[in-house]
Amino acid sequence: MKAVPHAPVKRFRQLAFLLSLSFILFSCASVPVTERRGLHLVPDSELTTMSYQEYNNVLKKSKLSTDMAKVSMVRRVGQRIATASEQLLVEKGHGDDIRNYKWEFNLIEDDKTVNAWCMPGGKVAVYTGLLPIAQDENGLAVVMGHEVAHAIAKHGNERMSQGLLAQFGAIGLSVALAGNPGVTSDIFMQAYGVGAQVGFLLPYSRIQESEADHIGLILMAKAGYDPRGAVVLWQRMNAKGGAHPPEFLSTHPAPESRIRNIESLIPEAMQVYKAR
Ligand SMILES: [Zn+2]
Repeated sequence: MKAVPHAPVKRFRQLAFLLSLSFILFSCASVPVTERRGLHLVPDSELTTMSYQEYNNVLKKSKLSTDMAKVSMVRRVGQRIATASEQLLVEKGHGDDIRNYKWEFNLIEDDKTVNAWCMPGGKVAVYTGLLPIAQDENGLAVVMGHEVAHAIAKHGNERMSQGLLAQFGAIGLSVALAGNPGVTSDIFMQAYGVGAQVGFLLPYSRIQESEADHIGLILMAKAGYDPRGAVVLWQRMNAKGGAHPPEFLSTHPAPESRIRNIESLIPEAMQVYKAR
């Protein structure tokens, strides 16, 4: 026999459902430039706190480059991309999104690792293995623009929110988040924990990747770097593939379709580049 819930229990469930629904609806915010709506359940302050801790862990475990010419190149490109993203977000009415970012750019000495990433809060790492493929500042701006784009589009928050939703369902989620801070830090480590491995554990989705390509092109153009360099950068990255593809390719596959997509976005980015 099917148990019929008592009226108060039923009312409680309805209320809980409505509360979680409104919680989720209010947690949807649009992504700058593409205006796609994404699910952002984790409070930004919580995310940046975890991010700063993990970033410091990575720096402690890594050997930082002492090649000052290269380190200053990474910081120069990073700062120009950061300034461009602040300008872009203010123009798009999203200025508050990254007002609390504490930008930091470090070059990790590791020639075998072709990778770069940006954690929420503006914490960026570039590995020395990326530099030969980047070739110059413009090439580096392609990759850093793309990585910073993931952060300002809050893709990490979205990825964590999807994980939380899958784990707890719509009803249990608001309760789980409110009552147990460990829940979000576990999901954060799944998404960003660098641990013994290098780089991100979970790749971004295809939608997030093409969104980061799009926003990244606008950022580099706004920062004064020629967006046409993105096509050749990705071709060089692909050419590095083969039997031992770089880490960057394992989370950023660059098939022909992706390069074609980037080509189709170049005219828009060139307008931004020329309008500076
Ligand atoms: Zn990406």
